[in-house]
Amino acid sequence: MKAYNRRLKIRTVVERWNEQYKDMYKENKDKLKILKKLESLNLSKCKAKDIDNIIGNPSWTHFMCMSCKDYKSRGVLFTDDYICLDCIMDSLDLFKHDALSQSSEVKKE
Ligand SMILES: [Zn+2]
Repeated sequence: MKAYNRRLKIRTVVERWNEQYKDMYKENKDKLKILKKLESLNLSKCKAKDIDNIIGNPSWTHFMCMSCKDYKSRGVLFTDDYICLDCIMDSLDLFKHDALSQSSEVKKE
């Protein structure tokens, strides 16, 4: 298990963008334009939204939650998939309700 580190994603966005698109800059000037914009940011201080706006989607600064299928920034990696904090809290509520109903069943017996 590992917590999602959004600042790390922000700090590494230029190198990750290069990794993915470096061979396409000649044919795809849009990817190169985005690189230049990303390079102009202060990646230690900028907001995830600044990057999302440049790229046009939140996928470079957020993870896709395996449970709710939404882009989120707070969550935990389980094996290969991230689960967001909201879904983790919902799952804890399920346990609480389950525990309550089980204890009331025990009382009935
Ligand atoms: Zn979720």
